[in-house]
Amino acid sequence: MKLESDGILIELKPFNERDAIARIFSRDCGILIGLLRGAVVAKKNRPMVGQVGNVVWGARLDSQLGVFHWESERNLAAGLISNQTGLMLMNAAFGLLATLLPEREVYDALYLKTLGLLQSLQQNLFSEYLNWEVSLLHDLGYALDLSRCSGCGGTQNLGYLSPRTARAVCDKCAMPYLDKVYKLPLNLNITKRFLESVCVQQGVPMPIMRDILKIN
Ligand SMILES: [Zn+2]
Repeated sequence: MKLESDGILIELKPFNERDAIARIFSRDCGILIGLLRGAVVAKKNRPMVGQVGNVVWGARLDSQLGVFHWESERNLAAGLISNQTGLMLMNAAFGLLATLLPEREVYDALYLKTLGLLQSLQQNLFSEYLNWEVSLLHDLGYALDLSRCSGCGGTQNLGYLSPRTARAVCDKCAMPYLDKVYKLPLNLNITKRFLESVCVQQGVPMPIMRDILKIN
């Protein structure tokens, strides 16, 4: 079996003294996991997290650990070297993708959003990151709807968000439940609560890089 696509290298873990296990978020095949031979010792063209490029993944049997051929085209993390916040947000995003997306399921819209996020992180934008998490939550089954009240259908004074339905609630309808609803505007503390629900559902811990994300 052989797969080929554009992709983003989102995780590298040393496997032995020479090789690494890589996780690549590909446009056409979703998350791919496999061996990157020589990744630890490469002097030239060393694979690095944050690279975007062309990936070929092959495995003799479907159940086997695949082997990658990775052709990096750009390193989107390179522009973030002196940008602590940008790096922090990139690592949080990669941690979430690595933890929560299943293998070999296509998420092409999220792939493009992730590319866009990496390009915008040079400017340190928490709002871009927040939008990216909203897209991620959408693809994981929590489509936030902030357009109208889930109680009365109104579009005015939408001051709250229901953790249960992920939909907005107007000030009046929220009145009896003020201790149970989240206060809008949306922020990374609120999306974190939804991400925690996804983690509980999937039985995985919150990725550490997201957990420690400091929100200015
Ligand atoms: Zn209402």
